[in-house]
Amino acid sequence: MPNLIQILPENLCNKIAAGEVVERPASVVKELIENCLDAGARDISIEIEKGGKKLIRVIDDGSGMGREDVFLCLERHATSKITSDDDLFRLQTLGFRGEALPSIASVSRMILRSRLKNADAGMELTIEGGEIKRADACGMAVGTSIEVRDLFFRMPARRKFLRRDETELAHVGEVVTKTALAHPDIQFRLFHHGRNLIDVRPQDGLRARVASLLGRTLADDLVAIDCADRGCRLHGLMSQPQTNRSTTGSIYTFVNGRYIRDRVVQHAVMEGYRTLLPKGRYPVVVLFLEIDPETVDVNVHPTKHEVRFRQQGEVHDFIAAALAANLSSSSWVSHPGSQAPIETTVSIPFHSESSLSTVPGGFAGARQIEIRESLQRYGAREPVTMPARKDLFTMPPPVVSRETLAEEGFFSGLRYIGQYHNSYLLCQDGPDLLIIDQHAAHERIGFERLRAQWQLGQIEQQRLLFPPVLEFSHAEFAQMQEQLPALLKLGMELEHFGGQAFVLKAIPQILDQRNAEQLVRDVAAELASLGRSNLIEEAVDKVLILMSCHRMIRANQALSDVQVMALLQDLDRIDFSAQCPHGRPVMHRFSLAHIEKFFHRI
Ligand code: ADP
Ligand code: MG
Repeated sequence: MPNLIQILPENLCNKIAAGEVVERPASVVKELIENCLDAGARDISIEIEKGGKKLIRVIDDGSGMGREDVFLCLERHATSKITSDDDLFRLQTLGFRGEALPSIASVSRMILRSRLKNADAGMELTIEGGEIKRADACGMAVGTSIEVRDLFFRMPARRKFLRRDETELAHVGEVVTKTALAHPDIQFRLFHHGRNLIDVRPQDGLRARVASLLGRTLADDLVAIDCADRGCRLHGLMSQPQTNRSTTGSIYTFVNGRYIRDRVVQHAVMEGYRTLLPKGRYPVVVLFLEIDPETVDVNVHPTKHEVRFRQQGEVHDFIAAALAANLSSSSWVSHPGSQAPIETTVSIPFHSESSLSTVPGGFAGARQIEIRESLQRYGAREPVTMPARKDLFTMPPPVVSRETLAEEGFFSGLRYIGQYHNSYLLCQDGPDLLIIDQHAAHERIGFERLRAQWQLGQIEQQRLLFPPVLEFSHAEFAQMQEQLPALLKLGMELEHFGGQAFVLKAIPQILDQRNAEQLVRDVAAELASLGRSNLIEEAVDKVLILMSCHRMIRANQALSDVQVMALLQDLDRIDFSAQCPHGRPVMHRFSLAHIEKFFHRI
């Protein structure tokens, strides 16, 4: 019987490896610029076309390669960076697997040019799908230039997974941003179709680099951290609690100069901020962990995004404790002007349809007198309490008059007993006791209004008197540009303000201006995570829920009777029968029978 098992041809192995290392243009950029850094480059320029799908060209002024090395670097497992097992645990370089170049070459058309410092000329290789087609001497500056055209050109299945140019560009921008953050002394430039998107020159330290890449306002908000303990050092910049984001996208962590997205490190960062950030909010950090290379294994994942620490628990606790200590000593705690963290519990979903099934359709006429009395009570208190709390409602509070009584609905017909724990409204419905969660109710109202307006194709806007200028990182900026039409449809009007900034001209009428910036960032992040904008129609509820979370009535807030009345009236105006998103209840009913049973009366 013939052998069934064969050793795979080299080029096929490279394509298989490419499946792991080369996911999209951004992964090519990552591998190429890491090679530049390993070669000692001081100036790295990246040119791309069509988000990198058509062209990626990376040029460096590093050491270059000799005539033989340009051939060797395309061989699988060919590297100049390690020679023995032990080297794996003493890594000083970003690369070591010797897989990137052959993998990339096997799935693209590549032109590789390189010249050593003292060589008369450079070498130029033309490679197609991993096969070397031509090799010539060429004139060039010292260094290396690698051009990758038509990524996945013979692999329609892989090409199909690539997203729109803007999305791919955003990923490339993110890679360049992360790498440039880790190397403030090196020049990075990124061009898309000749347009210069990133241009950072050798800079004085991390804060300057953060200002150029992520925005000056943000950089000014960050506090420095630098602490060391038992061979570990953690340094960098971290946000104070009031500066937070809805995703983990602004947590930049590096281990020995390598960007990583590691579960343990991320958890430690969150632990450091534990009680200071509301649920679902994330800090902005650019943190460098320096640790003995022998105690960390970077050879865990082909893209080297994950690492394994020998003393995982210790490293985790060190990071968490360092951040917590730094926060407790930083000025935000005692600073008189500082705001408390904004509570935007994005994860709060809404009640399910069934949880409201106990709400009857109307209310009995027999209770009219009682209701009228309670309404008069709200009306009487109005002048005293309204001015102070007016800002809580961006919609004017409804006018409560006898004339409107006839149309009162279920909620405004309830007899309001009082507020419990500054969070719940206790009401009586006939013999039953109702408890309404004021925060959930307010969000629910906002959501229903936004959705009704959205369905009409027009979310009512308020123009901002002092339009704030919002700065974004390069990657965020590219994403934002893509999201502008969707944001406009959601009532947020932004205009390019030069550089990476937008000016925010209008927001939805029912939302609070004070959170406008946070709102735009959160919604843009949500839209980006939904991917292509045609998905937005399907996921609009999710975005509207997020927006309604930005309204202002929170748990733990005393409400005046007038405000309570307005809230109840608003609840009457929304259509509870409409299909609604899943989630937590707005109201709970205790029947008299239940309560009497509790007290052993029946
Ligand atoms: P690795 O980086 O893991 O060694 P690569 O496939 O990325 O593997 O690169 C193979 C080798 O090619 C490197 O070890 C290095 O010697 C050489 N090389 C790649 N890119 C450059 C560059 N920009 N400048 C100088 N040498 C390079
Ligand atoms: Mg490499």
